Amino acid sequence: MIRLSRRLADLPPYLFAGLNRRAAEARRSGADVINLAAGDPDLPPLPHVVAALREAVGDPAQHRYPPYEGTDALLAAGARYYRRRFGVGVDPEREAVVLIGAKEGLAHAAHALLDPGDLALVPDPAYPVYASQVRLCGAQVRSVPLAREDGWMVDFSRVDPTGASVLFLNYPTNPTGATCPPEHLAEAVAFCRDHGLVLVHDLAYAEITFDGHVAPSVLQVPGASEVAIEINSLSKTYRMPGMRVGFAVGNPEVVGAIRTLKSHSDTGQFRAVQAAAVAALDGPQDHLDEDRSVYQRRRDRIVAGLKAAGLDPDVPGGALYVWARVPPGHHAVSYAELALDRAGVLLTPGIGYGRRGWDFVRVALTCDDARLEEALGRLAGLAP
Ligand SMILES: *Cc1c(COP(=O)(O)O)cnc(C)c1O
Repeated sequence: MIRLSRRLADLPPYLFAGLNRRAAEARRSGADVINLAAGDPDLPPLPHVVAALREAVGDPAQHRYPPYEGTDALLAAGARYYRRRFGVGVDPEREAVVLIGAKEGLAHAAHALLDPGDLALVPDPAYPVYASQVRLCGAQVRSVPLAREDGWMVDFSRVDPTGASVLFLNYPTNPTGATCPPEHLAEAVAFCRDHGLVLVHDLAYAEITFDGHVAPSVLQVPGASEVAIEINSLSKTYRMPGMRVGFAVGNPEVVGAIRTLKSHSDTGQFRAVQAAAVAALDGPQDHLDEDRSVYQRRRDRIVAGLKAAGLDPDVPGGALYVWARVPPGHHAVSYAELALDRAGVLLTPGIGYGRRGWDFVRVALTCDDARLEEALGRLAGLAP
């Protein structure tokens, strides 16, 4: 019997494993299961990004070890993006680091900031990686409960910062699809400054927004880089989930610590992937409007379809999900099981994102129209 580390043993069990196993069993016995659970962008890769990758792969120099902190070209492209998109200056030498996806950045940010026994504030509901990385550092999680009545934004007057050193936030939000105005990020920065916390803002859905909403950056708040970093990902915005690339910007000490950790753990992303990321950030941005309209159309279909099926959905302002309260008499898991067993539709039970998700399910916008219509029709058939 192998003795695994206590850090690993202390992680909560992967909540979706049971449901995924049932879905696999159903498929094996011939059921046509429609997956509305995965937040995995289904739109095809952008041709100019693929061309840049292909060209870089053919160049032997790109196959050498990359610089730990990222290539100068991608660090500079990240800074140009911040200037163009947010009107914010970022020093690529001190305030930026290339990541192997946002998830890697979140892991290393946690390890840069937290020791065993430390305390981090994590919203409930939230992307589960924040809490699991805090625990992997041997630190503790204090939940910050979010409420639907508050638009899933933090009510800072009710947050206890005692003993905490880090706050994680994410707008547009996975799983609720909530967006926030710039003032909310300003309030978060002020809160962190007043109480000596570091703010880690996850901006993985920077460009996936609806109804004309424009997502703010935390670095637009004056003085934010004294207390904050922001994690960016090309996965959703540039249809690049498989290439594993993103970048973090903000506080130079935190950025420097992430660079140091990367020199000990991963040595950075393949240069060719970084060249593709430069092509994405500097290239034509026309796909953004197309993607927003595809996802918004699916959002509207899903909101209408879920209502017809007896659920109570939010109308999300961004990200790739509809967050919906399950019908009376159900909780998240019982409804997800019913949807899978009786309709062959795989949903994500909200409890996987925190207790506040106990009676919600998350429905992803990443399924094509035909399959989506089929899935919504089947769910409507379950309505009492
Ligand atoms: C998808 C997602 C990520 C992961 O992004 P990668 O760059 O693919 O690692 C990070 N944060 C949130 C909130 C996400 O939904």
